[in-house]
Amino acid sequence: MRPQVLISGAGPTGLVLALFLRHLNIPFRIIDKLPGPGLASRAMVIQARTLEFYRQINFADTVIAAGIKMRGIRLRASGKQIAGFQFDEIGDDLSPYPYVLSLPQDDHEHLLVAQLKSLGVEVEWNTELTRCVDHASHVTATFHSKSGESSADFRYLVGCDGAHSLVRESLNLSFPGGTYNEIFFVTDCETQGLQFDDSVNISLTKGTFILAFPVRSKGSFRFIGVVPPEHEDPIHATFEDIRPILKSQLNADVDKVHWFSAYRVHHRVAQNFRKGNIFLAGDAGHIHSPAGGQGMNTGIGDAVNLAWKLAAVLDRRAESPILDTYESERLAFAHTLVESTDRIFQSVVGPGPGPAFVRAVLMPHIMPWVLKLRAVRRAQFRLVSQIRIHYPKSAISHGHAGKLKGGDRLPWVSTQNNFAPLRSLDWQLHVYGTASDNVRAIADHRYIPLLHFKYVHAARAAGIPKDAPLLIRPDGYIAFVATSRTLDDLAAFLDRWKIAPRLTPR
Ligand SMILES: Cc1cc2nc3c(=O)[nH]c(=O)nc-3n(C[C@H](O)[C@H](O)[C@H](O)COP(=O)(O)OP(=O)(O)OC[C@H]3O[C@@H](n4cnc5c(N)ncnc54)[C@H](O)[C@@H]3O)c2cc1C
Repeated sequence: MRPQVLISGAGPTGLVLALFLRHLNIPFRIIDKLPGPGLASRAMVIQARTLEFYRQINFADTVIAAGIKMRGIRLRASGKQIAGFQFDEIGDDLSPYPYVLSLPQDDHEHLLVAQLKSLGVEVEWNTELTRCVDHASHVTATFHSKSGESSADFRYLVGCDGAHSLVRESLNLSFPGGTYNEIFFVTDCETQGLQFDDSVNISLTKGTFILAFPVRSKGSFRFIGVVPPEHEDPIHATFEDIRPILKSQLNADVDKVHWFSAYRVHHRVAQNFRKGNIFLAGDAGHIHSPAGGQGMNTGIGDAVNLAWKLAAVLDRRAESPILDTYESERLAFAHTLVESTDRIFQSVVGPGPGPAFVRAVLMPHIMPWVLKLRAVRRAQFRLVSQIRIHYPKSAISHGHAGKLKGGDRLPWVSTQNNFAPLRSLDWQLHVYGTASDNVRAIADHRYIPLLHFKYVHAARAAGIPKDAPLLIRPDGYIAFVATSRTLDDLAAFLDRWKIAPRLTPR
């Protein structure tokens, strides 16, 4: 079959888009100008929401087996632990993955490439996109590879080509934002003296912060932080400039340095994520501080969001305006993320009396008490794990009942394993309790699988309303929370968007 989609860029975003399109049986090509997967460990953490997506394509266990589960957070000040909590004691009813997974980006990319290969997909390395032109009915892409220049036509092009995206520039889309004054450092080292367990350690001190967590194997640690502002030339800082801080703050005696980089961090969001038949995803559309471990995970979230919408339109199983919801959902989230990471970052390491108060008083003296509140710890887990992401303003989010609204992620009901059916990557109706005859009729008439779950305590605790049909999208978000009074609206919604599951007979 002729490839319908071109994915330009085989970083995490492009590779995950490729995996989902493969599972959705959409023919595509994926190219990258490099000779193979990235060699730097860069993004280190995989969040629970990403693992939930991987579970949908039977890939979560492979990734988890290769990484280290970080089960808690420890806050440190002046070398001493001042607060800490475990994720599983607060998150095991929120996600099947109540932890943060440490896995270097290079290992992660190798696993993604191997998974694609096992499904018969080869990344076309050494192939650079040099030009793209949208002709309304299709996109013409021009490539440069070892065999010279060539071109091909595709229905859609997705630019997963990173922060310096050629696709974004070809579309003349601006990339507004700014650059932090502070210089970040990142280093992977072998250390002695550190008695950290499997936790994320956050250490605060005047003018800087350090994140420390285990990587790859026992004794190996990743440190991320800000080069102290008193350094005379921070962008040229070396590991030796950082060594004393690691010793004084974390009691880390470093034996061997695998990787050190000092770099400027930008925070930018592209003006649009779509123009005609061309889309942007991942770093091509948004970049921000690495401190929260959100960047790569957000790119992966973009990829999953776009994959099923492209597949639905290409298979004529949904109306093409559903593609507009990619930009409205993901651009809004990118703005929220960039603004919130910026606010948090500035409030902790920025100049002036406010951040100084945060470092000297709030963090060491007040935060330990605040973190004793279970509700605060759960809110932290929801935020960092990305399970809180929702799309209440999307054109395909409707209805509300109990605590649930259209656009929410389907809550995890641990005792019912209600995420298992999401492996179909297809539309489905869930009812927790009893489905009425009218609900059954809607499902039968449109060939939408209707899944019944008992209305157990965990479902109630998760805020799921009893007997209410929940229309679930292929990516596990709720499109429509219906009640007995809004069933007609649910039927009209399915008709308006011409939503047809993949199993629908033609
Ligand atoms: C030092 C550092 C530390 C980081 N730490 C973290 C972290 O802890 N947590 C986190 O979440 N994120 C972190 N990040 C960010 C994270 O690495 C990125 O968010 C992530 O790589 C984005 O993935 P992507 O696939 O969108 O883009 P990229 O990984 O940049 O991939 C883009 C791909 O497109 C290819 N390409 C570009 N142009 C073309 C073209 N014209 N034709 C063909 N191919 C092309 C490139 O070769 C590349 O392989 C870090 C980044 C850096 C630099």
